[in-house]
Amino acid sequence: MVASGQGRAFAGSFARVRPGQAGWPSPADWDALRRSVGGRLEKVEVPKLSPADAQSLLHNPFYLRDTPAFTESSGWVDAWTSAPSAFVVKAKDARDVAAAVKFARAHRLRLVVRGGGHSYVGGSSAPDSLLVWTRDLDDVALHAAFVPQGGDAKPVPAVSLGAGCVWIDAYKAVTDEGGRFVQGGGCTTVGVAGFVLGGGFGSFSKAFGLGAGNLLEAEVVTADGEIRIVNARRDPDLFWALKGGGGGTFGVVTRLTLATYDLPTTFGGVNWTVEATSDAAYRRLLRTFLEYYPAHLMNPHWGEQAHATPGNRLQIEMAFQGLTPDEATAVWKGLVDEVAAHPEEFKTVEPFSARAAPARIYWNAGALQKLAPGIVKVDDRPGAQPGDFWWPGDGIQASAMWHGYQSAWLPSALLQGEGLDRLTDAWFNASRLWSVSFHFNKGLAGGAPEAIAAARQTSINPQVTDAFALAIIAMLGGSSYAGLPPPDISVARQNAKKIAASIEALRAAAPDAGCYMSECDFFLKDWQAAQWGKNAARLEAIKLRYDPDGLFVIHHGVGSHDWSEDGFNRLA
Ligand SMILES: Cc1cc2nc3c(=O)[nH]c(=O)nc-3n(C[C@H](O)[C@H](O)[C@H](O)COP(=O)(O)OP(=O)(O)OC[C@H]3O[C@@H](n4cnc5c(N)ncnc54)[C@H](O)[C@@H]3O)c2cc1C
Repeated sequence: MVASGQGRAFAGSFARVRPGQAGWPSPADWDALRRSVGGRLEKVEVPKLSPADAQSLLHNPFYLRDTPAFTESSGWVDAWTSAPSAFVVKAKDARDVAAAVKFARAHRLRLVVRGGGHSYVGGSSAPDSLLVWTRDLDDVALHAAFVPQGGDAKPVPAVSLGAGCVWIDAYKAVTDEGGRFVQGGGCTTVGVAGFVLGGGFGSFSKAFGLGAGNLLEAEVVTADGEIRIVNARRDPDLFWALKGGGGGTFGVVTRLTLATYDLPTTFGGVNWTVEATSDAAYRRLLRTFLEYYPAHLMNPHWGEQAHATPGNRLQIEMAFQGLTPDEATAVWKGLVDEVAAHPEEFKTVEPFSARAAPARIYWNAGALQKLAPGIVKVDDRPGAQPGDFWWPGDGIQASAMWHGYQSAWLPSALLQGEGLDRLTDAWFNASRLWSVSFHFNKGLAGGAPEAIAAARQTSINPQVTDAFALAIIAMLGGSSYAGLPPPDISVARQNAKKIAASIEALRAAAPDAGCYMSECDFFLKDWQAAQWGKNAARLEAIKLRYDPDGLFVIHHGVGSHDWSEDGFNRLA
C-alpha cells in the first residue's frame, strides 16, 4: 500500500512554469500552437456579467458548461477556489489534444483537462495552466453491434460518445431517439468522461453497474502525445486504470464507447417522510427501515436515497425501474403499515407516494413538463440546444462553494445480526450532527451479478461490490464567482467540523470504509487506500509506465503525492 506523501518514484524532473517566469512560452510559441490546433487556442477571459445575468447565468449549469473560465462548483472553503487557466485549447479532435499535450510537456506547463467541469475537488481548475477543453468533442454514434478493436469479443449494442458530451447528450440519442438505456449520471450536465474515469453511478447502478464497468473502449492521448485506442486487449492495463482510477491522471480521453441495454418499461420514484416523536422512537424507526431494506429493496429495481435528519425525520427519495406504481407500493406496504400502526411514535410528514412514467420519456424535457410542470428547469438561453434541462436539485449546486463533503461505503454485513445494532446506533448518532444520506445506488450489494462482475474488472475501490450504499454527508453555500453572494466563512468552517464529526460517528460502524473518489472529502488523509483500496498499488505502477514525468496531476490523483498541492512544484 502506498501511503500519502511516500513512494516518490517518478523519474522525470520538470517543475511547471507560470506566466512571467523564465521558460513561459513566447508569443511566437503560442502562435505555433494556435496554428497546429487550427486556430482553436484562446486566452481565457472571465466574462463580465451584469448583476441580473450573474444571477441567471451562473445558476444555469449549461452556461457553466459552455464557459471555459468557470467550473460547476466555484470552490470549497479552505480547500480550493475555481480559477481560470491562462490559455485554452478548444479541441476538435484527438490531434488537437495531442498537440496541446506535447506543447505542455515541451514548455513545462501545468496542464488541466476539463469535460463537464463537475469535479468537487477542483480537478478541472488550475490557475496559470493550459486547459484542454473537450466541449466540442460532442459526437454521438449508436452501434447495433460493437466489437472493440483488435479482439474477437462478442458484438454488443453500444454508444460512442465524444469526451465533451454530458449525460443529456447521451440520453437524448440513446433513450429518447434510440429507445435504449446507457448507464450514466442522474445529473444531466455531468461530463461522460470524468464520470466514467472516476467510476460513475446512476440511479440504477444496482441493475446496470458502474459507468466504468460498461466501458468497452476508449480513445486516449497519453503523456507522450500518442493517440491510442485502448480496450481489454489493447493496452489492457491502461484501459483498466481508466476504469475508475480517476480523470486527469492517465491521459486525455477523447472518445468513450459504452454498452447499452434494453430499456426498462418504467422509471419511477417513491417519496415518504416520517418523523419520530422521541429519540428512542427514532432509533426504532431507523432500525425498522434497515431491517426492511435488505429483504425488499436491496435488488436491481431500486436506487437513490434515504436521509436521516437531526430533526428525527426519515426522508425517503428512492427511484425504481421496471415496476408499476402499484408494484412499487406493494413493495413498501409492510413498512408503511408498520409505521402507521404506531401513531404515538411516528408521524407522517409526507404521505407515501409512488409515481412512474414510461422509461422512454424520462430524459425528454417536454414530456416531463407535461407530466409534472416545474419538475425540470430548461436551458432557456437564446441558441440553447433543444431539450437541454436540469433537475432543480442539481441546479442548487451550480456555482456553489462546498463547506464539507464526506462519503463512506457501508458493507452489507452491517445489515445483519450485531452489525444491524452498530449501524442503527451509528446512523442515529451521526444524524444528531448532520443529515446523513444513504445512496443505495452507489453500492452494488444486491445488484445484478453481471453488474458486480463488471465492477470487479474496474480499478475503483473493490469495497463497492459488497457495499449496500454509499453514505454522503455534505453542505454547500455561497459562491466565489463575482456577482453572487460569497460564503460565510465562519459558518462554513463550523459546518465542515460538524460534517466531519458526523462521518466519524457513522464510521464507528464501518471503521475501514473507503469512499467514492468523485464524491469525497478534499482533506482525506489516507487517500490512496480510501479511494482505490487494494487497487492503489497497481494504479501507481501503471501511472509510472504511461506518465513517468507526472504531466497529469490532480488533487489526490494517482501519483500526485509527488507534487505540491497546486501541481506546480515537485516536492523535495
Ligand atoms: C451536480 C453534480 C451531480 C453529480 N452527480 C453524479 C452522479 O449522479 N453520479 C456520479 O457518479 N457522480 C456524480 N457527480 C460527480 C461527478 O461524476 C464527477 O465529479 C465527475 O468526475 C465529473 O465529470 P465532469 O467531466 O463533469 O467534470 P470535470 O471537472 O470536467 O472532470 C472531472 C475530472 O476528470 C478529468 N477529466 C474530465 N474529462 C476528461 C477527459 N476527457 N480525459 C481525462 N480526464 C478528464 C478532469 O481533469 C477532472 O480531474 C456529480 C457532481 C455534481 C457537481
